[in-house]
Amino acid sequence: MDLKSWKKQLQQLALNHVEFNVPMSEYTYFKIGGNADAFIILKSASELKKIKKWSLKHKIPLTLIGNGTNLLVSDKGIRGIVVKIDCDMSEVKVNDNLIVAEAGALLSKVAQTALDHSLTGFEFASGIPGSIGGAVYMNAGAYDEEMKNIVSKASVITVDGNLEEWDKERLSLNYRSSAVAKERAIITCVELSLQKGNQQSIEAKMNKLNRWRRERQPLAMPSAGSTFKRPPDIAGSYLIDQAGLKGYTIGGAQVSTKHAGFIVNAGGATAQDVLDLMAYVQKTVYSKYNILLEPEVRLIGEKMDTDLVLPEH
Ligand SMILES: Cc1cc2nc3c(=O)[nH]c(=O)nc-3n(C[C@H](O)[C@H](O)[C@H](O)COP(=O)(O)OP(=O)(O)OC[C@H]3O[C@@H](n4cnc5c(N)ncnc54)[C@H](O)[C@@H]3O)c2cc1C
Repeated sequence: MDLKSWKKQLQQLALNHVEFNVPMSEYTYFKIGGNADAFIILKSASELKKIKKWSLKHKIPLTLIGNGTNLLVSDKGIRGIVVKIDCDMSEVKVNDNLIVAEAGALLSKVAQTALDHSLTGFEFASGIPGSIGGAVYMNAGAYDEEMKNIVSKASVITVDGNLEEWDKERLSLNYRSSAVAKERAIITCVELSLQKGNQQSIEAKMNKLNRWRRERQPLAMPSAGSTFKRPPDIAGSYLIDQAGLKGYTIGGAQVSTKHAGFIVNAGGATAQDVLDLMAYVQKTVYSKYNILLEPEVRLIGEKMDTDLVLPEH
């Protein structure tokens, strides 16, 4: 199917809330990225399933994004359709010690709900700026805690477009990885199992952890959080700092002067600047410590020239 006719069909399918040639810099925390051919902010899980089935039938690539806080989008943009799970899919319900959240619910909203119901176990995630769907996909974590500890099940749309319920084992959450990521599934809803706790202690813990974040992380600058995964037994940010790379800049991309684990968009950075800086950091740390830093940031969109070494999976 040619571009013109698939766009027309998609318009009918997505009831006219599809937009074309949308700059992804507007939907990523990094404020970087070229245009998506087609862009849809989803209204519901059933709409998502419909679009997924349609994209499979017509072999149009489909890319899913959440809150865009862990993404580096290519300067050349993204071919096909980008669907964003956002506030129209963000209902959060509580049933005793269980929280059931639609995938687009921000972690801050889920944390507030947990606090309102005196449920403990979610404090670690309250300052992570992503959505609950993105957090399960990435098995997000902080302060030695991770989503794996609290997720009991999730509703997913499989790569073939079928709706399934995956329990904790099936989700197979490991350090910044999941079966959802490996099998290119899409999460529509997540169930968390928390514990009853003391509301004041929960609030105090959230405030303490978020103060710690504000003091140490460059939250006022566009970024995608930690650029690299943590190598075994040592912090990547420590190695980058020790290699003298804090403040190192290529184009508009800079190794944060506040926290060496973050690359920030210091003004007008392109994806190419970030990739070049990531490759430089990776090469420098490898030559000094013989440790290969593996990107945590997800690179999406059209392929770009880079010396960055990526994992094989
Ligand atoms: C300032 C800052 C601080 C951060 N701190 C932390 C931290 O402490 N710990 C941590 O782990 N991360 C941290 N991050 C990274 C990021 O917030 C997390 O990885 C978050 O879970 C990503 O969620 P998202 O909705 O933004 O996903 P996106 O960035 O939109 O997407 C990330 C990946 O998840 C996939 N995805 C998103 N939603 C879904 C879904 N519903 N179903 C299937 N796949 C989906 C996307 O396809 C993509 O591959 C930080 C980022 C920033 C900018």
